[in-house]
Amino acid sequence: MSFPKQAQEANIGADLVAEGRWPVKTVSDVPKVPRSNFVEHLKGRSGAPHGHLRGLEIPLRHSPLYAVSVGAVLLLSSVPLSAMELGLPAQCELGNSCFMQQYPDMNPGEEVADPMCGGQSYDGHKGTDLRIRSIKDIEKGYAVVAVSDGEVLRARDGAQDRLIETEDDRAKVSGKECGNGLVLRLSDGYEIQYCHLRQQSLVVKPGQMVRRGDKLGEIGASGLAQFPHVHITVSRNGEVVDPLTGRKTSEGCSTSFQASDSLFSPSIVAKLDLTKPEVLAFGLAGKPLDHQALVIEGPPPQVSSKDNLFVVWGWFINLRKGSIIKLSLKDKDGNIVIDKTSDPLDRNKATFSFFSGKRHSISPGDYEIEVSVMNDSFMIRKASSIMKIN
Ligand SMILES: [Zn+2]
Repeated sequence: MSFPKQAQEANIGADLVAEGRWPVKTVSDVPKVPRSNFVEHLKGRSGAPHGHLRGLEIPLRHSPLYAVSVGAVLLLSSVPLSAMELGLPAQCELGNSCFMQQYPDMNPGEEVADPMCGGQSYDGHKGTDLRIRSIKDIEKGYAVVAVSDGEVLRARDGAQDRLIETEDDRAKVSGKECGNGLVLRLSDGYEIQYCHLRQQSLVVKPGQMVRRGDKLGEIGASGLAQFPHVHITVSRNGEVVDPLTGRKTSEGCSTSFQASDSLFSPSIVAKLDLTKPEVLAFGLAGKPLDHQALVIEGPPPQVSSKDNLFVVWGWFINLRKGSIIKLSLKDKDGNIVIDKTSDPLDRNKATFSFFSGKRHSISPGDYEIEVSVMNDSFMIRKASSIMKIN
C-alpha cells in the first residue's frame, strides 16, 4: 500500500522557494525583497557597519602585486579574456561533494535569466554559488581556495553560520549579506569577492599574496545564505562578469556558449550544464522524507529491515517547470517494488525532493534503486545504485 496521497503531496510542495531568494521565473509568488539586499558587500559604503573594511584596502602602488600587475597587463593585453583560467573556489568534487546551485542574473529587469537564458539564478544575483549539501557538511571543513593568484584586499570574519529562513533573519544580516568573506585582486583588472565562509575559518589577511589553490577559509553559511555555499562575484574593472561564459552581466544571456570563452578552466566547464538539473542525493529511508531537514541534516539514514516502512527518495536542484521525477525500486530478481512518477512541476524549483514508499518493512537483500528526471519526455538525468538492506 502506498502512502496517503496527502502526505506525499505535502512533501512534493515543500521546497525552499518561499524565501524569495531562490530562482523562480515569475517572482509574483514570493516576497519582494529590495534589490539592495542582494548587493553583496565587502565594499564598505560610508555609514555601513562594515565601512572599516575599506580602510584596510591597500593602495595598488604600494602593493607587492603592482609589479606583477604591470607585467600581467603587458602580457595579457593582446590575448582574449579566456586566458584567465580560474579554478573552483573550493576544494571539493564538482557533481559529487559540491554542486553549482546558482549563476549570475543576466537580466537587468525583474525577470531572471542565468547566463544561458535559463532559470538557474534569482533576481539581482551577481555571483556563482558553489554549494555543499547540508549544514552538517560544513563540519567536514571544505576549504575555500584562491581561484587564481592574487592579493587579499579586504577580509571579514566573525559572522555566525545560520540559514536565513524568515524576514527577521534577513533583517539581522542587513548590510552584511556577504557574511564572512574577502576580496582578492587578480591580474588584468579582475577582482573576486568570496562570501558566506564558515565562522572563524578565514586564514588570510588583507595585504597577503596568495597563489591559485591556496586555502582562504572554509565553506559556511554566514550572511544571507539559505544553503551552505561559497559565493564568488567576479568583476573586471568594476564590471560584473559571469565566470562561466566570460560575459559581462550587462551583456545579457545567450543560449550559445563557447567553452573557450569561459574564465573557468576546461575541466570545470566540462562538468557544468546549465540546461540540466542535478541529483544531490537519493536513497532508501525508513521514514517519510522531511524536505526542510535535508539542508540541515543531509540525507536521512538508510532503511533497515527492522523499520516498519520504507521510502525511495530523491533530492534535486535546478529543476525546471514541467519536469517529471521517476523513482523505481527493484529487488534482486528484477521484481518492481516501487515505480512512482511525479506530476509535472508547476514552476522552476531551485531545490526539490520527492519520495514514495510502502507502509510495511522491507525484506533484507540487494535492491536496485533508480531516480531520474524527465524534461519533455526525454530523460535528462539518471542516478542509480545497488543497495544492500540488512
Ligand atoms: Zn550567491
